Amino acid sequence: MTDRRKVYLYYKPSEELEPKIEQLRTLGRKYDFELVKDYTEANIIASIGGDGTFLQAIRKTNFRDDCLYVGINDGHLGFYTDFSLDDMDRIEEGLQSDIIEVLRYPVIDVTVDGLKTFQCLNECSIRSNVIKTFALDVYIDDLYFETFRGDGMVISTPTGSTAYNKSLKGAVVDPRLKGMQLTEIASLNNNEYRTLGAPLLLNGDRNLVLKVIQDGNDHPIIGADNEALSIRHCHEIHIKLASKQIKTLKMKDNSFLHKVKRSFL
Ligand code: NAD
Repeated sequence: MTDRRKVYLYYKPSEELEPKIEQLRTLGRKYDFELVKDYTEANIIASIGGDGTFLQAIRKTNFRDDCLYVGINDGHLGFYTDFSLDDMDRIEEGLQSDIIEVLRYPVIDVTVDGLKTFQCLNECSIRSNVIKTFALDVYIDDLYFETFRGDGMVISTPTGSTAYNKSLKGAVVDPRLKGMQLTEIASLNNNEYRTLGAPLLLNGDRNLVLKVIQDGNDHPIIGADNEALSIRHCHEIHIKLASKQIKTLKMKDNSFLHKVKRSFL
C-alpha cells in the first residue's frame, strides 16, 4: 500500500449518515484506501456534508497544503463538494478513470496585531459587534486609501467570491485569477465619511492593512469563513494572499462556471 492512499474522513456523526458512510468505507477498502483516525497521517482528507463542513474540515486540519481535500456532499450540491454520498457509482467511476483532476484554491492569511495568524478559504469578515458603526483606516501597500465607517468589511478569496461577497454585490471571480476582493458592508457615505463604495479587486501581491479606529467601538467581530475568532480588542489586521494553496480533487465536468451557472442562473 502506498502513502497516497491514507484517508481521513471529516464529518458530524449522525444515525442518518452512518449507513452511507459505511458504504463509502466499503468502497474505500475495495480500492485499497486505508482509513486513518489522525488527520496528520492522511494524504487525502474527505469532508462529508455541505460547504460549511468543507470549510470546517480545512480549518480543523490546519489548512494543510501537503494533502488533497475532497468534498462529498450529503444531498445538497455545493461549491466545494464535487461528489455525493447519494451517487456512489460516480465516486467509483472517479476512482477508476481520469474524470477527476486536482485544483488549487487560493487562501488568504490574516494576522491580527502581529500576533495571531489564521487562514481563510472563503473570506475574512470584520463586523461591528454592536448596533453602532465602527471605523477602519484602510491601507494598501502602505498607501492610506480611505477611512471606512459602517457595519464592516469582507475580504474574500476567488472561491469565496460566490459566498458572502456576492450577497454584498461583490464580483464573482474566476478562481484562476489569484487575488482578493474587498467589499463593504453598509458604508456611510456622506460629506463627513467617504469610501470607494464599490468592490475592490486586488492583485495577489498586495498587502492590505485595516487599522481599527480606537473610538470606543474598537472590538469588532472577526470571522474566518464560518467561525468567529475569540479576539476581543484589535488594532491592526494585515491581510494578504497566502503563499500556500489548498489542493482539492474535483470532477472535470463540474467546473467553476458550471457551479456558478447551476447555482445562480
Ligand atoms: P451557512 O450554512 O449559513 O451557509 C451559507 C450558504 O453559503 C450555504 O448555502 C453554502 O453552500 C454557501 N456557501 C458557502 N461557501 C460558498 C462558496 N464559496 N460559494 C457559494 N456558496 C457558498 O453557513 P456555513 O455553511 O457555515 O457557510 C459559511 C459561509 O456563509 C461563510 O463563509 C460566508 O461566505 C457565508 N455567509 C454569507 C452571508 C450572506 O450571504 N449574507 C452571511 C454570513 C456568512
